[in-house]
Amino acid sequence: MKFAILSKGDKKSDEIKTRIKQYLIDFDLIYDEDAPDLAISVGGDGTFLEAFHTYVHRLKDTAFIGVHTGHLGFYADWVPEEVEKLIIEIAKTPFQVVEYPLLEVIINPKSDSQKDQFLALNECSVKTTEGSVVLDIEIKGEHFETFRGDGLCISTPSGSTAYNKALGGGIIHPSLPSIQITEMASINNRVFRTIGSPLILPQHHDCLLKPLYDRSFLISIDHITKSYANVQSIECRVAKEKIRFARFRSFPFWKRVRDSFVSDEL
Ligand code: NAP
Repeated sequence: MKFAILSKGDKKSDEIKTRIKQYLIDFDLIYDEDAPDLAISVGGDGTFLEAFHTYVHRLKDTAFIGVHTGHLGFYADWVPEEVEKLIIEIAKTPFQVVEYPLLEVIINPKSDSQKDQFLALNECSVKTTEGSVVLDIEIKGEHFETFRGDGLCISTPSGSTAYNKALGGGIIHPSLPSIQITEMASINNRVFRTIGSPLILPQHHDCLLKPLYDRSFLISIDHITKSYANVQSIECRVAKEKIRFARFRSFPFWKRVRDSFVSDEL
């Protein structure tokens, strides 16, 4: 089996990367950063997002696992003290796979230039530096509302514990193929009105965001932000592709939620 390791780059993560790499090579596994069967991230959830985007073009062939070197993570759920145990598990391949849904985002330009297509593991957020974001939201081909405000966040179930949660969105179990739209400071008065609540769309309901004015938008896909001018529309839906996690033990989602946000235990 071929594997690759992506480190956060700090001293602790680099040391753990070196240890895992040497042990796995000793077990006759092959280190291959171009086409790994298993991508191991060492750092935090942010490092895991980087690992995901490094291998997003080969999701059918690369499974992921995360070791955290800081606080407990949602994607990085193995602790450094368990590294030896994890290495033995990896060496005993084949491993079990658990799949999580992803978000597909297509940014259509007004001109003839090429559309941009992305997969997000956490979310897509749409903001602007030029006043308010003003756009029509269509759901499944029907006008739903005209949004005015700071921006919108469209998240995956596993991203629901990240930016979405900070915006008051609900936490969605990753076994539910869905996307969630949350507002950032919508303008609500006698003239402008939005639903105000987060919306959860199932797999067969896509949403289309159509800007009403020519503004440049800051569109983030997970940790990557780009500026776009001349946006005709932004399509968001549950992607056909899924992320595959290598699972060697059960670590229930609600336990991760509790341990991260509720529990006092370290
Ligand atoms: P960052 O600003 O350095 O860190 C964002 C924080 O979100 C980190 O603590 C990260 O965990 C955590 N995180 C990432 N994915 C998560 C998930 N699925 N569930 C719970 N927490 C999660 O940015 P970054 O490390 O490059 O990560 C980009 C992410 O930041 C975006 O995808 C977005 O979700 C999030 N974000 C959050 C807010 C907010 O909460 N107000 C605002 C902007 C962006 P680690 O420390 O383990 O890496």
